Amino acid sequence: QRTASGRLRIAIQKSGRLSDESQALLKRCGLKLNLRDQRLMSHVENLPIDILRVRDDDIPGLVMDGVVDLGFIGENVLEEERLEREARGQEAAFKPLRRLDFGGCRLSLAVPEDFEYAGADSLTDCRIATSYPNLLRRYLNEKGVPFKSCMLKGSVEVAPRAGLADAICDLVSTGATLEANGLKEVEVMFRSMATLIQAPQPLDPERQALIDKLMVRVNGVIQAKE
Ligand code: ATP
Ligand code: ZN
Repeated sequence: QRTASGRLRIAIQKSGRLSDESQALLKRCGLKLNLRDQRLMSHVENLPIDILRVRDDDIPGLVMDGVVDLGFIGENVLEEERLEREARGQEAAFKPLRRLDFGGCRLSLAVPEDFEYAGADSLTDCRIATSYPNLLRRYLNEKGVPFKSCMLKGSVEVAPRAGLADAICDLVSTGATLEANGLKEVEVMFRSMATLIQAPQPLDPERQALIDKLMVRVNGVIQAKE
C-alpha cells in the first residue's frame, strides 16, 4: 500500500511566504537539503526522506489523502480545505503535530474607508470577495448575517474598487495592502500560523520513529529561538 521506497515524504510550499522558513527549519533539524533545482521531488542526502515542493493549497489534501506523510502549511489553508472537504462529505482527517513559529497572519473582513461599519450586521446582503469561501461562510453564518460571496483566487483586495464586491475577506499581516487599496480592516475572523501536520493513516514503525525523532529536533530548534 505504501510507497515502495520506504522513504518519508514531506510536502513544503515550492515558492512563497512559507517556503524559506520551512526549508530553514528542516535544515536546522539536520536534514541535508539539495533544493537548488526546480524538481518536484528531491532526496534528503543524509536521511531516508524525500521533499515534495508544491503549491501550498495542495498540501492539506496531499496529507489528508496520505500521499505524503508530513506537510508544512498555514492554518488558514488547512482549515479552509478541511471545511471544503466536510461540505463535500469527503474524508478530512489529519494529525496535528506542532504549531510553528512563522507564517503569522490573520484572515480579516475589510471594507472601503467610507463604509459605515457598525458590526457584522452592516454586511447584510453585501457581496464579499474572498479566496476562503468556507471560512467566510462559517463566520457569518454563526453571526446570522446573510451575504453573497464572490470567489477570487487572487487580487481580492482590488475587488471593491473594481465594483466586483462591497467588502473583502482576505489575509492581512501589516495592513499596508489594505490601506493602499482604500480599505479598512473591520473584523479579525481567524488568526493563523504555519503548522506541521501528519497523514491520518498509521505508518510503519521505521517511518513513525523517524517522525518522532524529527519532532524532538523541531521542538529543540523552536525552543532554542524563544
Ligand atoms: P502558492 O503559489 O503556493 O499557492 P500563495 O500565493 O497561495 O502561494 P503565499 O502568498 O506564499 O501563498 O502565502 C502562503 C501562506 O503564508 C498563507 O496562506 C498564509 O498562511 C501565510 N502568510 C503569512 N503572512 C501572510 C501575508 N501577509 N499575506 C498572505 N499570506 C501570509
Ligand atoms: Zn496558494
